Amino acid sequence: MTQQRNRNIQGINTEFLGLRNVPANYKVLFVQGGGTGQFAAVPLNLMSRTGKADLHGSWSSKAAKEASKYGAVNLVFPKLEKYTTIPEKSTWKLDPEAAYVYYCANETVEGVEFQYVPEVPQGVPLVCDMSSNFFSRPVDVSKFGVIYGGAQKNIGCSGVTVVVVREDLLGCPLPVCPAVLDYGIMAKNKSLYNTPPTFAIHVVGEVLAWVKREGGLEEMQRRSIEKSKMLYGVIDESAGFYNNPVDVAARSRMNVVFRVGEGGKDDLEANFISQAAAQGLLSLKGHRSVGGIRASIYNAITSDDVRRLCEFMRTFLKANK
Ligand code: PMP
Repeated sequence: MTQQRNRNIQGINTEFLGLRNVPANYKVLFVQGGGTGQFAAVPLNLMSRTGKADLHGSWSSKAAKEASKYGAVNLVFPKLEKYTTIPEKSTWKLDPEAAYVYYCANETVEGVEFQYVPEVPQGVPLVCDMSSNFFSRPVDVSKFGVIYGGAQKNIGCSGVTVVVVREDLLGCPLPVCPAVLDYGIMAKNKSLYNTPPTFAIHVVGEVLAWVKREGGLEEMQRRSIEKSKMLYGVIDESAGFYNNPVDVAARSRMNVVFRVGEGGKDDLEANFISQAAAQGLLSLKGHRSVGGIRASIYNAITSDDVRRLCEFMRTFLKANK
């Protein structure tokens, strides 16, 4: 059984490396604990470098809370009332002595996505939470110290988190770092230090093979652009009936959020959600912390699915404006 698991994990590793062009000096780990586990694992593995960390973003505020247990946290972005934009680079406060700079590439709740890799002071490793846009576009891994993402959005089911870590960042955990979160121990044991989530890893392997067959990350990117453009097109043509609050340059290709009607009146949004559900368009309710509508258009959602949603949105607008 262990041998079987070993083969499985290594098989997926190869698939993974082939897809992402992960340079030879990076390790790919399959761990448990989700993104939330990584909020702790990142400081536990990297904080010892200088004891200070730079963080920015909305999901990052949870990561910041966790990191502050293990060192000094500097919030890079100016304080925002609402997270609907990525502030100008000139307003960022980056510390050249930070142990690492941490950001979240796609803010799942607010629908805000970095369309570029932020520049950081030389020698400071860049850490990225790609949980909600993993495998939706090509990424230059060599720009990062650590990339991680829970599998459950774009590459499989919940239960496994993929961590890509540069080798020079292994082996300097804080003494309190639990073995199960220690990148060095996990790397040395090829992710088999403890019982791995075998089924979840198997599903990742199947999904990555599918991504490859479909044309790889370039094709996933093409589809994401096509799908998100369709939805933002309907929103922008609606003369304010549908309203996306995010700066155009920071709009997410994965999570398209919007309000319905002026000020997002609740009954209109509730009707939108129930009428959409009656047509099989499900899970459109926005995150409880922000309300509104959220269309999560991960890799498994096809362009035809999005076309159906757009048609529904046009019909609903005509009936309710
Ligand atoms: N980061 C991002 C960007 C997320 O969207 C989420 C959850 N949706 C998390 C982290 C937390 O992940 P988990 O629920 O796997 O702990």
